[in-house]
Amino acid sequence: MNAELIERIRQTNGLACLECGKCTSVCPVSTFSRQYSPRIMLAKAVRHHFEAIFQDYDLWSCLTCKKCDEYCPSGVHFTELIRALRASAKRSGFDGKCSHSGALQSLSRIMAAEHLKQNRLDWLPNDLKTTQKGDILYFVGCAPYFDVFFTDLELQTLDAARSSIRILNALGISPVLLPNERCCGHDLLWNGDVENFKRLAEHNLKEIARTGPKTILFSCAECMSAFKNLYPEHGFTVKAELKHMSQFLAEKIESGELELGPSARPVTYQDPCRLGRHMGIYGEPRRILAEGSSEGNGGVGFYEMKQSGSRSLCCGVSAWMNCDTTSKAIQTARLKQAKESGAQLLAVACPKCQIHLVCAMKDKKVNESYGIDIQDIATITLGRAKLK
Ligand code: SF4
Ligand code: SF4
Ligand code: SF4
Repeated sequence: MNAELIERIRQTNGLACLECGKCTSVCPVSTFSRQYSPRIMLAKAVRHHFEAIFQDYDLWSCLTCKKCDEYCPSGVHFTELIRALRASAKRSGFDGKCSHSGALQSLSRIMAAEHLKQNRLDWLPNDLKTTQKGDILYFVGCAPYFDVFFTDLELQTLDAARSSIRILNALGISPVLLPNERCCGHDLLWNGDVENFKRLAEHNLKEIARTGPKTILFSCAECMSAFKNLYPEHGFTVKAELKHMSQFLAEKIESGELELGPSARPVTYQDPCRLGRHMGIYGEPRRILAEGSSEGNGGVGFYEMKQSGSRSLCCGVSAWMNCDTTSKAIQTARLKQAKESGAQLLAVACPKCQIHLVCAMKDKKVNESYGIDIQDIATITLGRAKLK
């Protein structure tokens, strides 16, 4: 087992580490937690101190946001190494601290069971048109479960799906929805649970193959990154073209098929690390949000936060692990940046960003100082669209 891990250290360029500490200096976790250091963790890995790493709380604190990879002068893929270390730790009987007592991990594992009966589409309003076979499939993700699980947060993460399908219908498209869709497995893989991740990938791809889509659309950046990066890495072939809804909507705006009216409120954008640093998608969400804004529009338009694009700050929790005071500090800092940008609306392109940032605003003091309306990008687009 260690031989596998030693090989992974080599493949992720771990041996090229200069110990310069740049990773630690840009890491959002290190910024708010003095004890956390990717440089030190990598040094321990290179020296094969695996047992110490497996027992370290901080193995599960990494947000896998790839910011360190972005800045590393030696091309070390620390994020990939973290995934390998977690899988080995899990196999050796070690685990991190799951948020919500592991309920979300349990939910994903339940979905990996072969003969599972779900009422997966009961959220779908009667007036939305969907189909069972077609060229365009919309992968819903776990939003139907999130909205039930987080009732205290009064979330509507399903708005992203409803708004996306409403826009698709207006463009003459009835998307395929899978009645037996399962969790994409993204979080389980980043938790080190490779076996259940593979079961979920296999199940989803089998279900999708029956419907024969040419394109798969996603509102969740993590689902898309699972299909685009993680499924092929684990030997699963995804035959359809993959697009985040922001890419699809930007294309439709550029081709003139979708017209937007001006934004009623100044808006800013939270880059999800999966959409940005993991898949390099930065421009399309911005083009949608900035569409129609101009100097002469009373100052209403698109505003960047202090840290944006490839330098963006994460939403503070990844794969439902180690949510703690550091997570809250990161989220508060991000909400502060949103407020200071001059925006009154924060656009998100991933339901997880929405959940964690809304959760942070449940703190009365945070809400009083930095409270801001948060909506997903399809819902914002729908609100501004001139639909026929
Ligand atoms: S930035 Fe790269 S080279 Fe520098 S300490 Fe971190 S991993 Fe090593
Ligand atoms: S992936 Fe993100 S959270 Fe993890 S060490 Fe790198 S910068 Fe820090
Ligand atoms: S930020 Fe809130 S919703 Fe997110 S993991 Fe922590 S407690 Fe759960």
